[in-house]
Amino acid sequence: MEKKRILTGDRPTGKLHIGHYFGSLKKRVELQESGEYDPYILIADVQALTDNFNNPEKVRKNVREVAMDYLSVGIDPKKTTIYIQSMIPEIAELTVFYSNLVTIARLERNPTVKTEIAQKKELFGESVTYGFLGYPVSQAGDITAFEGQIIPVGEDQLPLIEQCREIVRKFNHIYGDVLVEPEAVLSSGKRIKGLDGNEKMGKSLGNAIYLSDSEEEITKKVMSAVTDPNRIKKDDLGNPDICMVAYYHNLFSKEEDVKKICEECKAGKRGCVVCKRQLAQNIIEELRPIREKRAYYESHPEEVEQILKEGTKKAQEVAKQTMKKVKQAMKLDYFE
Ligand code: SF4
Repeated sequence: MEKKRILTGDRPTGKLHIGHYFGSLKKRVELQESGEYDPYILIADVQALTDNFNNPEKVRKNVREVAMDYLSVGIDPKKTTIYIQSMIPEIAELTVFYSNLVTIARLERNPTVKTEIAQKKELFGESVTYGFLGYPVSQAGDITAFEGQIIPVGEDQLPLIEQCREIVRKFNHIYGDVLVEPEAVLSSGKRIKGLDGNEKMGKSLGNAIYLSDSEEEITKKVMSAVTDPNRIKKDDLGNPDICMVAYYHNLFSKEEDVKKICEECKAGKRGCVVCKRQLAQNIIEELRPIREKRAYYESHPEEVEQILKEGTKKAQEVAKQTMKKVKQAMKLDYFE
């Protein structure tokens, strides 16, 4: 039986952090190792340019960084195809074709786009670019070019997949049954709060621990994490429910240790500095194999380059086949 193609990806706008690790990367490795799927991971540099069009150097640099993050968490290029979006011109072609099948009003109603536009007010002001508003259309190109069947997403991304499904249905209705309609699957990964308690972890918020952070950087960041603000002295009774250090102990420490930490905190028998040092050590240990693997790839950039080249070449072949079918269906197959 043919394996179902599963598509995921990231915008290369920065290195990946532990929010990505718990939110999607762990799950991708799990799916890859199950052997049940044909995983494709897209490094979405064109999409990254929709809100970084004035900073192409940043996007270019982060394509390599994100690739190294993938490899260091266990994405295996022998099992998973890793490729660069801009190297697949068929995606851009599909985006143009699909733009006739979507109204501006429908894009403006897309809840994910609405939220993201609100978050980008500083960049766009009152005038959102055509490219940003239309990125769900280009995402439909990303998915359909590779006949993606399963798309693991967080809840906030569901409207994007729904929009893609609408485009597929409309295309197939007009031109014939060519495109594969993808199915969104809620990725069961955890959404991790920032060290400052913010619901989101991100570079611009300065509250993230990166997979590539050194031991010193991890320790420094953990020492600045938000704790129970009512605790001044060690013997003050604490509340671990409002402490980010306790929150992270839940992710990185053994269950019996977490229980002890919370009990001691509540009883005023635990100092925050000790508590933070213990957490930093646990994070350092958990991320050690990732860091070591990453260090290897950092000193072997030619291997990363080769992996990206091979993955992209494979993806190009798949996209070419899809485009052939699309152009035939749209009567655009001149000179063939
Ligand atoms: Fe948080 Fe630990 Fe301090 Fe309690 S002792 S407030 S859990 S850092």
